[in-house]
Amino acid sequence: MAEGRYQDAATMLESIVARVERTHGASHLEVAAPLNLLAMSYHYLARFMDAGLRYQRALAILEAHARGRGDEAADIFHNLGGLEHAAGNWLRGEPFARHAVMLRTKLFGSRHPAVAADITALAALLDRQGQFAEAERLYHRALTILEPEHGAEHHLVAVALNNLAAVLHARGKVADAEAMFRRAQAIEIAVLGPTHPTVAYSTNNLAILLKDTRRPTAAVVLFRKAVTLFSRGLGANHPHVGVCLENLSQVLRRTGDASGAKTAARRAERIFAGIDAVTNDGVAATGTINPWATPYRLIARASAIHRIGVFSDDAIAKGRKVIEYTGERISRRESGRRWDPKRSYLFELTEKVHLDGAIGGSGAEYINHSCEPNLKTRIVRQHILYYSTRPIAKGEELTVDYRYDHDTDTMRCYCGAPGCRGSMNLLPPKRKKKARA
Ligand SMILES: [Zn+2]
Repeated sequence: MAEGRYQDAATMLESIVARVERTHGASHLEVAAPLNLLAMSYHYLARFMDAGLRYQRALAILEAHARGRGDEAADIFHNLGGLEHAAGNWLRGEPFARHAVMLRTKLFGSRHPAVAADITALAALLDRQGQFAEAERLYHRALTILEPEHGAEHHLVAVALNNLAAVLHARGKVADAEAMFRRAQAIEIAVLGPTHPTVAYSTNNLAILLKDTRRPTAAVVLFRKAVTLFSRGLGANHPHVGVCLENLSQVLRRTGDASGAKTAARRAERIFAGIDAVTNDGVAATGTINPWATPYRLIARASAIHRIGVFSDDAIAKGRKVIEYTGERISRRESGRRWDPKRSYLFELTEKVHLDGAIGGSGAEYINHSCEPNLKTRIVRQHILYYSTRPIAKGEELTVDYRYDHDTDTMRCYCGAPGCRGSMNLLPPKRKKKARA
């Protein structure tokens, strides 16, 4: 099974990375390539945090050797976009994917097939955010590069067609979408064979279309096939398998197969329970930090305060802008729906506008609370900025005072500072600044 294959690859790459690190040192240029491959194998195993941290380390190594704008770096930005996509965090993946397109265009020109692959990945992140017009435009652009390069019957053309069809479906052009899904699938089956994992994507998308157009019996057949192909290609516990099973469960119910529906739903639940989610909607944590949100080299890793935290690889002087806290802009009401004291990255920007750092966050949302923090918040023209309150040493963990409202759920504090209040909540009745677990 493929899960075994990816697990074997990960084990082998772990030992290769360790050996190269022992021989040359952990930040040697030689480490970057195997580290990227190791991250990819974690990515396929749905170990998103393990993947994210390695991609970022590989990138830091390339940057340290003045290779941050090369083809290898573009690959890693492309992969980071793909990782966030797999983790369900389309907004967070977008800047990485855009950067890959930009770097690759500078390197090879705008009509290179590698650029088309980057454009396809970016478009996929946009269409998942509902930005259908730009996504459609980009898929067409990718196709005008890929078709002359590879011919109309190439599997990369099929991938772009499959994605474009999903946009057409989302925009209500159902008949065009169905024809295009079938064309994409026919190319994939002809070129790659009927059991290739790539065929799963078009099969799944076509099944969703059949489900939406009230053809549940035909949809059941295709969802079952997609489950098998995804399981074989990505492992039985990959979130793609879970999403397929959820859909399968719904269409089985419509065909009157209640027990089959229940079994599929349970399998889906088990898969999602095993994923390190940061939201109740199933978005997974990747531990990545958006390099454009900070002028410093920051890295997320295990923290003594709480699970993971953010550490500085640079010394930072007092009074510097360290990182911007970004996230999806949502209403107060939506913020209430998403609030979960165990896992929440919500920030109250104004009375009406909240930011959800779990979606499209810069990585600042991983910064832990301390009652004696080294960062403080300043809101400048609707931007949330973290400034250093004192000099921060290289290797030190970054912290900020969450200043939870005194009248919301009391959150115990384990910061260990001499002046610890014992809770992350404010004592006097001041306004809530930040809410997060
Ligand atoms: Zn404390």
